[in-house]
Amino acid sequence: MVKEVPLLSPSQQNELKQALTQWALTNGLTMFPPNFDENVTAAAPVTFYPTPFPHTAFKTAIDVQKVFNELYIGVVSRHKTWLLEILETLAQFDQDFTGKLFEIYLKSLVDDKSVQPVSLGLFRSDYMVNQDDEVKQVEFNTVSVSFGGLSTKVGQVHRYLNQGGFYDNKYSSTYYDDDELPVSNSASELARGLAQGVKHYSSGNTVVLVIVQPGERNVFDQKHIEFNLLAEYGIRSVRMTLEEVQTKTTINQHKLYIKSTMDEVSVVYYRSGYAPSDYYNDQIWDARLYLEKNMAIKCPSVLTQLSGAKKVQQLLTQPEIIKSVLPDLVDADLEKLVSTFVKIYPLDESEEGTYAKKEALESPGKYVLKPQREGGGNNIYKEDIPDFLSKLNESEWGAYILMELIKPANHENVILRQGEIISDNIISELGTFGTALFNEDSGEIYENEYAGWLLRSKVSSSDEGGVAAGFGCVDSVYLF
Ligand code: ADP
Ligand code: MG
Repeated sequence: MVKEVPLLSPSQQNELKQALTQWALTNGLTMFPPNFDENVTAAAPVTFYPTPFPHTAFKTAIDVQKVFNELYIGVVSRHKTWLLEILETLAQFDQDFTGKLFEIYLKSLVDDKSVQPVSLGLFRSDYMVNQDDEVKQVEFNTVSVSFGGLSTKVGQVHRYLNQGGFYDNKYSSTYYDDDELPVSNSASELARGLAQGVKHYSSGNTVVLVIVQPGERNVFDQKHIEFNLLAEYGIRSVRMTLEEVQTKTTINQHKLYIKSTMDEVSVVYYRSGYAPSDYYNDQIWDARLYLEKNMAIKCPSVLTQLSGAKKVQQLLTQPEIIKSVLPDLVDADLEKLVSTFVKIYPLDESEEGTYAKKEALESPGKYVLKPQREGGGNNIYKEDIPDFLSKLNESEWGAYILMELIKPANHENVILRQGEIISDNIISELGTFGTALFNEDSGEIYENEYAGWLLRSKVSSSDEGGVAAGFGCVDSVYLF
């Protein structure tokens, strides 16, 4: 039997709210509020209770992570020519962003002595659970994946509330069993991934350069990973924005150094640079190229970042393409991968594309339309699709993919957001992390690991789920 959320009296809910807030502030389950002062933080938007999640679906998502890592490694390395052809087309459709990133890739190749062929991926594959309790992939993220740090903390706080008796309305005992509430180890696993990049670079004393957004509110998520990197591996990290890079670092004999200390940078870890708004002037585009052209290992390289394009995801739902990228993949693994896909269509001249165009106009309620963008707020949902498409020239439709909507179950929960309580039905999205260190030229894989998980939830009436964007919150699973 799936347990519903405990029925608590208003005063018990208040105690729970206070306990949750105090734990969050004590342990860094925090996020700066909008328009923040950097000395004043708040509990991150978070659920009161863990949300029910089927354990078989949870296990499937974890089981396929390394295969997904390998698939994207294959696309960027051994199947590079195929990827480059796709990107060239996308670059024409989306000149201002994909086009510019692609141009950086091409320019970085001009002097090949200054290009590091090893790329580090901290990936996150996102899923929703459909009505048959199966995980279905929403998207595969190859750059700047977030909430691996806070995810560990949410699991811990839900366990604390359970153990502390805050979920029980009668005897102050536990409401969930311990093994029903796993804690994600992503905060240390992602640090492990970075450390593997650092060690591969050299055995010497080097630092990780963390590229951050100006005014970042989700700082503490990143700091948990940085603190683990130092505590568990003795590796220091230095933070700066893309705009600061060319004044605060220098390149000597293809090596990247922090100017003020002359520390050598072994890994450039991007927590920025994935959206057009991150490149708000030309100097920033230059900075991205500058970072690409030195021997530091990029997490990720611009090419690995571009492999996360929605168009690539659409093509990779075809088993023939998966087999050509991973010829040695065993059938059982292929089946598992394919079981996580919903239909994704191109909107081009192909037979499938023609069918999809008809669907988009006649049955838009079944679909979400996605451009080649990351970071939330870009998709077009259901009945908005026909109008949106009609405003474009049909020759531009090829830049979009049409994806079947996944319809996850609703669960009752309570969201705490900046002191405000929202009791509502929520839907959840699971993310599973993976780390991969590989050579883009030779295809050699040095590391490929699963690296923990994340649950994000949002009120069921909202289409989008960005936590920092104000749509959603962090959550954890109660496995049933
Ligand atoms: P982004 O790169 O902007 O994060 P996503 O593909 O993750 O784009 O879509 C953003 C959000 O839209 C998701 O977090 C999810 O809430 C919703 N969404 C995307 N695809 C689907 C889908 N196929 N079915 C249901 N919801 C979806
Ligand atoms: Mg997403």
